[in-house]
Formats: sequence, structure tokens, C-alpha cells
Amino acid sequence: MNLPDSMYAMVLEAANHPLIYKKVPVPHPAPQEVLIKVIACGVCRTDLHIADGELKHPALPLIPGHEITGIIVKAGAEVTLLKEGDTVGVPWLGYTCGHCRYCIKGQENLCENAKFTGYSIDGGYAEYTVAHQHYCFPLPSQYANPSGAPLLCAGLIGYRSYRKISEQANKIGIYGFGGAAHILTQVAVAREKEIYAFTSPGDTAAQKLAKKLGAVWAGDSIHPSPVKLDAAIIFAPVGKLIPKALADTDKGGTVICGGIHMSDIPAFPYDLLWEERTIASVANLTRLDGEEFLALAPEIPVRTEITVYKLEEANKALEDLRHGNINGAAVLAISE
Ligand SMILES: [Zn+2]
Ligand SMILES: [Zn+2]
Repeated sequence: MNLPDSMYAMVLEAANHPLIYKKVPVPHPAPQEVLIKVIACGVCRTDLHIADGELKHPALPLIPGHEITGIIVKAGAEVTLLKEGDTVGVPWLGYTCGHCRYCIKGQENLCENAKFTGYSIDGGYAEYTVAHQHYCFPLPSQYANPSGAPLLCAGLIGYRSYRKISEQANKIGIYGFGGAAHILTQVAVAREKEIYAFTSPGDTAAQKLAKKLGAVWAGDSIHPSPVKLDAAIIFAPVGKLIPKALADTDKGGTVICGGIHMSDIPAFPYDLLWEERTIASVANLTRLDGEEFLALAPEIPVRTEITVYKLEEANKALEDLRHGNINGAAVLAISE
């Protein structure tokens, strides 16, 4: 295949500045890497935290984006698992060392030497990207398009968050109903769980989407839950939702925080935590999460609600995400 020397990309040159649409060289795959023609790349709240400087160590200048669907156009000399023409998904976890104390324990999501797509290595806000062969997932064909992109982070983080709560939990509250929540709801409803969706006050579009996907209740997050919850998952980056979710949660319940960044948590009375409630966070993903979730998604089948933007509209997508103007997930559609 004849590959171009240069490509368009959206580049973050400094935090708190808009991304710049510019021509950059097409990257060369290292021996263990594949070169991917990007079909689409999801726009995740983490990208906003990176662009806003809330995550401190982006590899600038940086091409963000870690919910990539694409097709392999060139394989590095030592690639054995994938080949030209394969459709793949590329997630946030871009590399782990395999030998630190976390990798050895099977907790590669906490690897001390990890690299993250669209943060410590360039991501998918571009026409092409490279990825290590061991950190791409073969992508079922029905997801090799813009609708599949949100599975690669919103889907995976939602799934990992869901796995952290007890299988016995039936009444599950979800706080913040965007990309992750709308996918997770489909997974949980397929397992006959009751979903209670808490949105920003007045976000009737998100509440309507939650009901459409099978939530038994949807309403404003400022109201108390109509029932005591067995578990709560918080996706909104809002620290005051932690005491709120604890107050909504029954004895022995779990509150999981699915985001990478959150505003400060206000002080709250110990009574809210007492009676064996727990709070935990979810960080990154393991490749096993990805393999499990991408096998499960077509069975349900998970369908994503997306708002599509062009590559050069990434700044608009980020602003719409910031202001809660996206129903479901935002995706940059980059090539056919
Ligand atoms: Zn490691
Ligand atoms: Zn993400």
C-alpha cells in the first residue's frame, strides 16, 4: 500500500490552549508496532482533563485520543499477532512493563512504567497512529466504525467499574449519564439489574436516554434516590457526589468512582460511611478487561449513541463535552 508521508492531526501544544489542526509526519511503526489508519476516535472526558492541564504530564506536543477504531495498514517487522487489513481498537493502556510489582500481581492497570495512549504516547486525533501489537484489540466488524469508538474507553472503564461491585447488587445507581453510563446500562440491564440514573439537574436528554436504554428511574442528582441502592458508580467528575451516593446507598453498599479526575470531596459525617459501606476508585484497565468486554459487547449487543464530529472539530467536541451538550458519546469520524 502506498502510504502518505504526512497526515492531518489535532495537536495539543500547551495545556489550556485549543488543539491545533496541522499537518505532521505519518508515524513509522517500531518492530513491535502496527501503523493504523484511524477510522474514528472517541472524545473522552479524560481528554478534557489533559487539555485543561488537570492531568499533569502529557507528552507535549501531543495528539490526544484513546478510543480508536482503525485498520492496520502496515505491520512492524516483529509483529506476529496482527496483519495488514485487520480492524483493531486501541485503548488508553498503551504499554506496560511486565516486570514491576503490579504487573507481576496481574494489576497491569497500575503498572509503574505504563504508557497511556493520547497522554504519554500519541493517540487517535489523527489520520494515522501507531500502537504496540500487544495493546490493540481485534475489533468485531460491527464496531469497526465511529459507533465502536466509545467501547474502547467509555465501555471498558464502565465495565471495569461494574466488575468492582458485587454480583449480588441489583439496585445500581449511576451518577453522570454520558459515554460510560450509557454503555454500562446496557450491560447491567442485560443482566436484569435495576439502574437508577442520576444526571446533572435538568438534563432531560440524558434522563430520556437512560430510560430508553432500560433504566427503571432517571432524575436529577440533587434528589435523593427513590430506593436504597446496593451499589453506586460515579462517572461525573464531581467530588460532592461521593457523600450523595453514600447517602443513597444501603448498608454494605459500594460506591465506585470511575473517573480519572474529580473535584475535591467535601467533608461528610462518618455516619454516611458507617455500616460497612465502601468507596473505591477504578484506574485504567487491564488487557483482560478489554478482551472480556469486547467479547461481551456484540452478544448483548451494545449499541452506542454518538454525536459525530470531523477531526478538525475536536475543539468543539471537547467544549460540547465540557458543557454537557452531548447525548451519549462524542466521536471524531476520521476516515471511511
Ligand atoms: Zn509494570
Ligand atoms: Zn477515556
